[in-house]
Amino acid sequence: KAISAYSLAEATATSTQLRQQLRQYAQAYYTQDAPLVEDAVYDDLYRQLQQLESAFPTLVTADSPTQQVGGAVLAGFNKVTHQAPMLSMGDVFSFEELAQFDSRMTKAIAQATEYNVELKIDGLAISLRYEAGRLVLGSTRGDGTIGEDVTANLRTIKSIPQQLSQPLDLEVRGECYMPKTSFEALNAERDRNGEAVFANPRNAAAGSLRQLDTKTTAKRQLDTFIYTIVDAQRYGISTQADALKQLRQWGFHVNPESLVARELPQIHDYIDRYQGQRDDLPYGIDGVVLKINQLALQTELGNTVKVPRWEIAYKFPPEEAQTILRAIEWTV
Ligand code: NAD
Repeated sequence: KAISAYSLAEATATSTQLRQQLRQYAQAYYTQDAPLVEDAVYDDLYRQLQQLESAFPTLVTADSPTQQVGGAVLAGFNKVTHQAPMLSMGDVFSFEELAQFDSRMTKAIAQATEYNVELKIDGLAISLRYEAGRLVLGSTRGDGTIGEDVTANLRTIKSIPQQLSQPLDLEVRGECYMPKTSFEALNAERDRNGEAVFANPRNAAAGSLRQLDTKTTAKRQLDTFIYTIVDAQRYGISTQADALKQLRQWGFHVNPESLVARELPQIHDYIDRYQGQRDDLPYGIDGVVLKINQLALQTELGNTVKVPRWEIAYKFPPEEAQTILRAIEWTV
């Protein structure tokens, strides 16, 4: 049924149901690292709730999944209050929606847009704090405001510098992920031991980083791509592209595939290229991220309660759907 045909009572009942369902899925996904459904199913229900809430704004509650960063803090870990919130990201599923985002940006900044385009790594967000160049705290995103202290576990990851060459006070953020080879080896071992296998590398990474026994994390072969310098302008950096260069110089692992782009066709090509190469990359990606390149403009655009206004994720179609399509191609 079209949302425009809903009565307020129907919309209330449906949105309550959707919220309950989404909360149940989010709990399994974020707390147990064991999703009950594919991401595309979750995304679809989430979209329905978003559309209902935008048609009936009085239904929006502060605790709706559309208004909160998903995620939880597991018992057993110390809590870390983030100095700046670790947010989620808006998403689009078509070039048409991407063009709408671009028009919104052009209008808001009253000038032509320039984006830093990056791969959307399928892992979990981490924050790393350095004092006088020494790694002092590593945490997960948690609910966006409070995350888990996983410093000891992050110290087992070889690509994370323990000591920077300069005595900097610094916070950086990025993605902790499990390379595909490690994921396959881990699941094969779990299968042999009669343990439940992880649904995907993202859940495996989250489950492996959030271990109370550091030795378990150390065995899991996690890796990182760092993509954010918090308050980068403090270090004389004015664009996201320069932030990535600086991160590389400081010794962080930075994904090499990013691109500065001004025109949508260039971005479409980038998306098509990586959607095609997705299976060949040694790490999982679930889309492409567009970020307004100028940091001053990012600050000007700011955030909603849940997402930065200056960035968007173009999500790839689910891999299962691609597999199904390929299977159909084979049979015809
Ligand atoms: P998200 O994971 O879709 O996007 C935000 C995250 O992208 C950031 O926190 C960051 O960790 C990551 N990221 C990766 N590469 C990045 C880059 N280059 N630059 C910046 N950030 C980058 O959003 P979310 O709020 O973490 O999770 C929502 C998603 O989780 C949904 O889209 C849904 O598919 C999935 N989910 C699935 C279920 C399920 O049951 N299957 C349940 C809940 C959520």
